[in-house]
Amino acid sequence: MGINQLQQAVWALTLACGGCMALEGDTACVALAVALPGLVTFPNSTLYAVENIYWSARQSAATPDCFVTPRQTSDVATAIKLLTALNTPFTVKGGGHTAFAGASNIEDGVTIDLLFLNSIVVSDDRMTVSVGPGNRWINISETLDPLGLAVVGGREPNIGVGGLALGGGLSYFSGIRGMACDNVRNYEVVLASGEVVNVSPTTNPDLYWALRGGSGSNFGVVTRFDLASFEQGDLWSSSVIYPGILNTTLIPLFQDLTVNGLPSDSQVHTYFVQTYIPALGGFAILSDQYRATPLPDEAIPRAFAALQAVPSIIKTTKVANVSTALRGIEVAYGSRQTWWNTGVSASSAALLQDFVPLYEEHVFRLLAAANGTSITPFFVYQPLPVNVLTAMQVNGGNALGLYPEDGPLVIVQVSVTWENAAIDDLVESSCKQLIKQVKALAKSRGLDREYIYINYAGKTQDVFRSYGNASYTRLKEVAKAVDPQGLFQKLWKGYFKLDRPKCRPRD
Ligand SMILES: Cc1cc2nc3c(=O)[nH]c(=O)nc-3n(C[C@H](O)[C@H](O)[C@H](O)COP(=O)(O)OP(=O)(O)OC[C@H]3O[C@@H](n4cnc5c(N)ncnc54)[C@H](O)[C@@H]3O)c2cc1C
Repeated sequence: MGINQLQQAVWALTLACGGCMALEGDTACVALAVALPGLVTFPNSTLYAVENIYWSARQSAATPDCFVTPRQTSDVATAIKLLTALNTPFTVKGGGHTAFAGASNIEDGVTIDLLFLNSIVVSDDRMTVSVGPGNRWINISETLDPLGLAVVGGREPNIGVGGLALGGGLSYFSGIRGMACDNVRNYEVVLASGEVVNVSPTTNPDLYWALRGGSGSNFGVVTRFDLASFEQGDLWSSSVIYPGILNTTLIPLFQDLTVNGLPSDSQVHTYFVQTYIPALGGFAILSDQYRATPLPDEAIPRAFAALQAVPSIIKTTKVANVSTALRGIEVAYGSRQTWWNTGVSASSAALLQDFVPLYEEHVFRLLAAANGTSITPFFVYQPLPVNVLTAMQVNGGNALGLYPEDGPLVIVQVSVTWENAAIDDLVESSCKQLIKQVKALAKSRGLDREYIYINYAGKTQDVFRSYGNASYTRLKEVAKAVDPQGLFQKLWKGYFKLDRPKCRPRD
């Protein structure tokens, strides 16, 4: 039997199977291997081992029946048509940077790895860069830096384009341009039917809105992002580490920066990390500060003057290109990871300060449980100043349900890196408890903002309902319009689904 006959046989089986019981992943893999010769990798092959490398060890622990590695959009369409017709559970891997198990990898099913959809094309007028979803942000910056161009993207080299841009995308340039999702001119998308559509403010505008924060797994596989590019030279950046004991000085400065400093100069960007590093004597604070355009003589931007004046342990200041800035915070692969977050109002320094003892209790709980094995607990304040919220409203706004009048906000992010699998449950429950305490304290002062940032969310967080009723209802309507049978809700496993079981208690 020739390959064409085999392919016809597979499609005959597929059509006959329409609506049949779910076909096991390993059987579907055989059908996929026939339909997409050379693009399916099975366990015990070298490529399978490479594809099963994820940033978080908890994701690599899954062993899919096979990986499908499309080389072009039509391969993705073929894979989706087959998987939906065969009723086979699957997931999609972009850059594989989600922390929790099963977000973009699957046990007993198929993982579509977008790795080889990695083209980068700059338009003749330099206004648009079309990128495949298999790219990491470093591939894009390394192409654009020599051209004096940039896009609104991630702040770490290896994050995938897909997950970051479909969930939002906080960037060095967010103060001027909003999130990465607000700077996509057009998406090429494979829908649940296998149809390939373009999505822009004028073509499929509802889906365009939904893809800006609604994530891929409810709507479609994005096979090309046409990103708005802009002229960009070197950035100014300063990375400062302070002793944790200075938190009572630094937190009020950070809060003032969020409310006043960042909106006064939309070129600047920052975040504020509290952590515990025994080598630095215990609690430590990291403040990363950026300005998109360096000032004359590389002067310190006025917004950061107060933070820069506080005595620090280590300070590294440079003027360099985007790739260098990305490499400045490269985070190693291979550890166990969890990320959680919740939004609060930025209006009270006392609130941000009063979270610290809660964080410290969490740290001591984790250190005791880790019993000498490696563990690093982070407590991060990611500001969403009013100028970022304003910039997010372009082209009809995004799905996040955030408006300038809601701001300024701080996303309070709780994340942990550890090694010992035996304490997984304890780490998760400690993070949940801390998030609950943060929310409760904020609520008691009328400062809770009911917003969960999907890109930093924990597995059981109710992300889409946190966008508010209007946004959640519209997301559901768009999903129904593009996938009337709810195939992706049923078969595309992992990450955050709109059809979350109603009985699950809110975290
Ligand atoms: C070290 C580190 C640094 C980070 N820095 C930032 C930052 O600076 N700013 C920020 O906003 N976030 C940041 N994040 C969070 C990051 O944006 C999310 O983890 C994001 O989901 C990662 O995208 P990914 O493609 O690598 O992940 P994946 O785990 O591969 O994908 C996440 C989800 O997106 C889906 N998906 C991916 N690609 C596509 C596609 N093409 N079409 C449809 N669905 C797709 C996947 O199926 C999955 O559901 C960081 C994360 C890490 C681990």
